[in-house]
Amino acid sequence: MSRSNDEEEDWSNYASAGYSTAYDPWADLVPQEETEDFDEDFEMDEFTSIRPPPSDEGLDHLVSIGTCDYCIVRLSGQPFSWDGAQNLGATIRKASDDRGVTKGDDVQFCPFCEDLFVDMDVLVEEIKSELSGVEFKKMQIGAHFAKSHVAEEDDLRTRNGATGSQALKSAFNDALSQKLELELKDVELVKEQPEIMVLVDTLTFNITAELRSLYLYGRYRKLERGIPQTRWPCRACKGRDGGCESCDETGLQYPTSVQDQIGEPLRVAFQAKNTAFHGMGREDIDVRCLGRGRPFVIELKSPLRRYADLSELTELVNATSAGAVEISELRASRRSEVARIKGTAAEKSYTIRFKYGPEPHVIAESETESEEQSEEIEEQTEVEPPAELTPEFVGEMIASLEGVTLEQRTPQRVSHRRADKVRKRQVVSISDILVEPNEAEMTVRCESGTYVKELVHSDEGRTVPSVAEKLGLVCEVIWLDVNDVHAD
Ligand SMILES: [Zn+2]
Ligand SMILES: [Zn+2]
Repeated sequence: MSRSNDEEEDWSNYASAGYSTAYDPWADLVPQEETEDFDEDFEMDEFTSIRPPPSDEGLDHLVSIGTCDYCIVRLSGQPFSWDGAQNLGATIRKASDDRGVTKGDDVQFCPFCEDLFVDMDVLVEEIKSELSGVEFKKMQIGAHFAKSHVAEEDDLRTRNGATGSQALKSAFNDALSQKLELELKDVELVKEQPEIMVLVDTLTFNITAELRSLYLYGRYRKLERGIPQTRWPCRACKGRDGGCESCDETGLQYPTSVQDQIGEPLRVAFQAKNTAFHGMGREDIDVRCLGRGRPFVIELKSPLRRYADLSELTELVNATSAGAVEISELRASRRSEVARIKGTAAEKSYTIRFKYGPEPHVIAESETESEEQSEEIEEQTEVEPPAELTPEFVGEMIASLEGVTLEQRTPQRVSHRRADKVRKRQVVSISDILVEPNEAEMTVRCESGTYVKELVHSDEGRTVPSVAEKLGLVCEVIWLDVNDVHAD
């Protein structure tokens, strides 16, 4: 320990004594300090006699070193705004001229801004042409400066400008915003939530425009079975390289989706690049979604259009989808609503039709036991069916599930993508029970995240209790509809 301390001391001794070594940890520091000291002494000697602006002396000096009209105003201690800067700057220059002071012959560019303000017209024209054909009302602008330029200007301004003069970067941003607001009518320059973000590189004059996504909220009804909520890439080709034979070169597992039924007409209307779809939960492909429908937020990426009559678009989507998917309550939304939609645990109501009997209900024994025992050979237990199966008995058994808390072990059909665990979900209510020979129907309202098909057939005893267990008979879901998502 002590040895390494000694070594460190040695290092610093060498460094401060100015010895050079193969690896010098002070390499960045020492020369820079020396240069700064030298600069300061030099400048002080040369300029101590010049009083800074707004003195005539200070202003004359700014003129003589080639400061542009805009920077003269900025550095003179007067408030700077794009509007009057050039006139005011010219007036100050004229006064210097009258005192016999003019710009040095060898000066090419304004030493402060490198003629950025003079080139502002060109820049704004380029921004306008970059954004032609894009619809927006809220714009945020940012300018990127080279670090060395910022540091040099800072130093030059401190030495030659009036106390409190606005820094180049902030003055340039203000001036650009003011000029754009004059040029682009109806466009507001904002600091947050822009519709378009424009970045200007002041070194290369490269302009980058980013069109922020447009978000719309609505509710959808899915009136046909066999449509997934979102686009599914083809299982065979994963949607790569323009699809394969099994997906008819679409790259999709299913020809359409709720996302595309709603999103495609909207994408075309807003001239967007792509869509993302966020539903408040989702129903299975074979499940319809009725009632008031399911809340969703659709994101339209890089839209060239932003403003449209949403009731007209609602009609357009509903007409295009021709009865497969219907939307309502379409309104403007924002990014933060996506999290709300995804995070809302809404109760849902379903109508389910299912077959019951004649085979007895079977429970895979090991599934209800602990992990260790599940290694053993699975034994299956048959639950005694009742001697006489009357419609009253079936109805009573279904109704007895109202209010119960289900214990649902992750169903086999989703076990490949969900953690295997037991979830507790409440059956809030059961109504509209209809019993026919061999088939029955019921309306169930239950907690968010309930596996409702499993409530009927029990998934070999993984869901307890269930209709199958109560009846002691095999139950099979024929169809299922979401009647309502109880939210919003
Ligand atoms: Zn300038
Ligand atoms: Zn494919």
